[in-house]
Amino acid sequence: MTTVTERTQAGVMNALDVHRIRADFPILGIRPRGKPLVYLDSAATSQKPRQVIDALRRYYEEENGNIHRGVHYLSELATARYDETREAVRRFINAADVREVVFTRNTTESVNLVASSFGQAFVRSGDEIVVSIMEHHSNLVPWQLLAERTGAVIRAVPVTDRGELDLEAFGRLLSHRTRIVALTWVSNALGTVNPVRRIVEMAHARGVPVLLDGAQAAPHLAIDVQAVGCDFLAFSGHKMLGPTGVGILYARGDWFDRLPPYQGGGDMIETVTIERTTFARPPSRFEAGTPDIANVVAFRAAIEYLEQVGLDAVQRHEHLLLGEATVRVGAMPGVRVIGTAPEKAGVLSFTMEGVHPHDIATILDQHGVAIRAGHHCTQPLMARFGCGATARASFYLYNTLDDVAALATALESVHQVFG
Ligand code: PMP
Repeated sequence: MTTVTERTQAGVMNALDVHRIRADFPILGIRPRGKPLVYLDSAATSQKPRQVIDALRRYYEEENGNIHRGVHYLSELATARYDETREAVRRFINAADVREVVFTRNTTESVNLVASSFGQAFVRSGDEIVVSIMEHHSNLVPWQLLAERTGAVIRAVPVTDRGELDLEAFGRLLSHRTRIVALTWVSNALGTVNPVRRIVEMAHARGVPVLLDGAQAAPHLAIDVQAVGCDFLAFSGHKMLGPTGVGILYARGDWFDRLPPYQGGGDMIETVTIERTTFARPPSRFEAGTPDIANVVAFRAAIEYLEQVGLDAVQRHEHLLLGEATVRVGAMPGVRVIGTAPEKAGVLSFTMEGVHPHDIATILDQHGVAIRAGHHCTQPLMARFGCGATARASFYLYNTLDDVAALATALESVHQVFG
């Protein structure tokens, strides 16, 4: 009989060469508080490989210029680099056309763009917007603001005790009043991977468009927007090995043509007179002002890195780590795992009887183990599970079974302190 650890180790070895991957991430070599870094907070933001850092430095040293407005060498080069990332994103999510991809600052801004522009065009008093109890505040508050402005109503899909969306309830919430469905693909607080293809089918059967919050999906799953059929997909570069400051909004087909501009300014216009402006075609229409050119350019290196490793291998690796962590942490006395859906990404959320999650995270930090504690910007979900906060360990391609062991060992010391 092999142990879980041995089976897991063998699986990990087959799937990807984690030690080679780790060598690409300079920050993994730091020693916080004199201890080796065990970084288990990738759901908040991922670390960056040398390839991304190098691309950023190269951009500023050799390629920097403002895009779209110059005829000189550097302006043309920067424009080409910026557009190469758009093509890389298109390929990464299998969008049909680069004009379906707009750069924003982050997932939050992508959702706000849709809530604002779609809302202005299509949402009226009495209309309904369907979200879920497990949404990150980024995919809830923008819709609430829209509802306040328009008199629309928010309806929330409940979740089961295991942390799955209640699809029957979802079906019942869809009606002739529903204008849009906005749901997360993967829950940042539970790890649940939602059945997005089914969700899109159900909504489309009633003629309702679907926005997916892909902030926790894009880093971990192979994405094919044409297969899923969603109308909008929002995600952030910084959670998938890329720099901060880069968000993506995908809109299928002619959706961007049908939406009014989000922000006005340079680069999003066709002609301007004092009286009136006509707007550029998408994607420019939704990229007012100088974007975060350097970080968008460097983001291509992150996409290429993930493509080279392979998202299927990343997912298998995280599964193995999650399985091992769930067994080890879940078996500890007083531990309650929050989020036990069969389909999960690499997120382990838990509470420990008698210990506040912030205390858990603080003690773990003394061991060099970085986890997150709090409501994870999902307060309605925390209320649903009757806890104000959880401790959350999240895994990515550079984590190892040693990291899981370090987590377990550090958690034992929490027991000793609070025992
Ligand atoms: N949605 C989910 C599911 C998330 O996990 C996050 C980040 N924690 C966001 C949205 C917001 O992402 P950002 O802060 O990059 O806008």
